Amino acid sequence: GADQDLRDLLLSRIHDVPDYPKPGVMFKDITPLLADAEAFGALTDAFVALCAHHGATKVVGLEARGFILAAPVAVRAGLGFVPVRKAGKLPGATLAQSYELEYGTAEIEMHADALDAGDRVLVIDDVLATGGTAEASLQLIRRAGAEVAGVAVLMELGFLPGRARLESALAGAPLEAL
Ligand code: AMP
Repeated sequence: GADQDLRDLLLSRIHDVPDYPKPGVMFKDITPLLADAEAFGALTDAFVALCAHHGATKVVGLEARGFILAAPVAVRAGLGFVPVRKAGKLPGATLAQSYELEYGTAEIEMHADALDAGDRVLVIDDVLATGGTAEASLQLIRRAGAEVAGVAVLMELGFLPGRARLESALAGAPLEAL
């Protein structure tokens, strides 16, 4: 069916790069997908449909590949785009959230006034791996007083516990992996 055709198209444009950026990591390179207008357009349409289905009023993209995927979705869906950035990149007053990595911690930020109390936010990224980044972004959205419409990713690495890690932060909101 149509869903399977979309999955096949997207998968054919994602390249597996072993041992990048370090040994043992299978990097999912989406640049061939971005360079293919049909595939990038089909992916954007699928994300736009999720915005409508889940009643999103804002789209959050996670730095950096999440920006590339989420910005055209926001434009086509007629919604505002909000960047969640690595610490130290946003000029205004921010909310910051740190989270655990395998070794050490990381921190992300969002402008404190980027969301309104009534907003329903769809978070978009390319790959859900451990789920740490997405989980921290949901905490930022809730701390800003907005609601979580869901998390939508191109790809979920099913051999990692990302979905389980996100479960409590999602609080019933959907995790969609295209
Ligand atoms: P995590 O917080 O572990 O879910 O990692 C999510 C972030 O790291 C995403 O923004 C991805 O872009 C990136 N990432 C993690 N693992 C991979 C991978 N195997 N291939 C490509 N990107 C990855």
